[in-house]
Amino acid sequence: MSRFWSPLVHTLSPYVPGEQPKIADLVKLNTNESPYGPSPKAVDAIAAAAGEALRLYPDPTSTALRETLAAHHGVAVEQVFVGNGSDEVLAHAFRALLGHESPLLFPDITYSFYPTYCRLFDVAYETVPLAEDLSVRIEDYRRPAGAIIVANPNAPTGVALTRAEIACLLAEHPDKPVVIDEAYVDFGGESAIPLVADHPNLLVVQTMSKSRALAGLRVGYAIGDAALIEGLTRVKDSFNSYPLGRPAQAGAIASIEDEAFFQDSRAKVIAGRLRLVEGLEARCFSAPASSANFVFARHESRPGAELAAELRARGVIVRRFDAPRIGDHLRITVGTDGQIDRLLTALDEILG
Ligand code: PMP
Repeated sequence: MSRFWSPLVHTLSPYVPGEQPKIADLVKLNTNESPYGPSPKAVDAIAAAAGEALRLYPDPTSTALRETLAAHHGVAVEQVFVGNGSDEVLAHAFRALLGHESPLLFPDITYSFYPTYCRLFDVAYETVPLAEDLSVRIEDYRRPAGAIIVANPNAPTGVALTRAEIACLLAEHPDKPVVIDEAYVDFGGESAIPLVADHPNLLVVQTMSKSRALAGLRVGYAIGDAALIEGLTRVKDSFNSYPLGRPAQAGAIASIEDEAFFQDSRAKVIAGRLRLVEGLEARCFSAPASSANFVFARHESRPGAELAAELRARGVIVRRFDAPRIGDHLRITVGTDGQIDRLLTALDEILG
């Protein structure tokens, strides 16, 4: 607390990211990072960009990266926005698109940054309860709304809506901005990007942090109608003209260009997810079907807080949210086979 704070700062309740502990030999399954590392070509491109040219500012418009993303997703370069992680892209979307007189709608259980942005940017919001099975029900969004944001697959549940369901949501709200946060879509979801062509109100946000194993580089992006992108760019250029450094722009381009590496590592994560789910089910956990690189699992009898603490004592870190309805769930990132084995062995010890 300080008397020098602005009144706004007193009202904030900041987002709390998953911890990044510096403990040796830790099995870190708490922040949905990729266990497989980025494309070696991306690492080479980052190294090549980290030279004498760093004395110069980067391209403020990240045009080469936006062109690469546009070609990759089959859209025009004017339909692509990039930012310092998708968190920053989302922040600009909240600022540029989501604050209206009627409330912004999002699920009651979802990415916990959304209410934080609402408070920071003074966006009125209402949460819509997930169904009993933790799925988003599109029909529940038939109510007055200024805008809608949905994570698909949702976090921390991993449950996905189909593209057809997103199309229904868009059909019911043709005049409202709709943001679909696809941070985890590459692990089995259906992207809404093909719907952008017919929906000028749709913004799709993706990240390189998960499926491209570049969480440390901080690159996220959005795809939508050129007019929506212009709105984001206006906010960005009123905040930070150079959100992506030279190494980030170069590394992100090389990652997108290495399709074979991307396909291989996401296939490994999807195979690991199946192994993780089978191992958990054999130990009396249940979890909704996940389309993400994590599983949201709950034991039939043991409290989540106790299990998380016992796992931690054995060097395995998972994420738990102290929130209504989900306090007994553990969100477990899909690790390597070796990490999954360490988790399952620790659970065998704990469960006896
Ligand atoms: N959206 C969702 C649903 C997430 O879980 C995350 C990761 N915490 C993000 C966006 C942000 O990811 P990043 O800023 O690394 O792109």
